[in-house]
Amino acid sequence: MIEDRILQRLEQGNLRCRQRQELAALRQHTARHGQEPYAIVVACSDSRVIPEQIFDAGLGELFVIRVAGNVLDKHQLGSIEYAAGHLHCRLILVLGHTGCGAVSAALQGGGEGYIQYITDEILLAAGEERDPLRACEKNVEHAVEILRREFREHPEIPAAELDIRGAVYELESGAVRWL
Ligand SMILES: [Zn+2]
Repeated sequence: MIEDRILQRLEQGNLRCRQRQELAALRQHTARHGQEPYAIVVACSDSRVIPEQIFDAGLGELFVIRVAGNVLDKHQLGSIEYAAGHLHCRLILVLGHTGCGAVSAALQGGGEGYIQYITDEILLAAGEERDPLRACEKNVEHAVEILRREFREHPEIPAAELDIRGAVYELESGAVRWL
């Protein structure tokens, strides 16, 4: 069965990961002493957009939230609130990317089913914009605005210490362009 082969691929991948001795000590250390990620990254679920790879970061370094179209809802805000309030992350990066399928779907009239929740949010951000790259940027800017608004007055997270940034990752070059 195809599913069995895929499952096997996952299992073998996990085995290879566990055999990487250079990670063993760090795994044990972070398991015992907890995580201290230095940044929160909100990125798209697209399999080509891997924040740890893009920023050459490893275990315990980035607190990553991935959702198609890098949109924000209460679940994402809750994750960010936890990382900023309890893990003391002070940099939040919203990372859009070129060639985003969620942005394209939104510009083509929106998706159906649950996808619509995502495309509706992107359309809200994009407004009248029809250029995919500019719509992607506006979608990132929209999320940045939401974060600035939501964390303006928080009892445990000093707004003055928070740095909320937006950027676009370019699929082909691998470059991150800060907005
Ligand atoms: Zn995407």
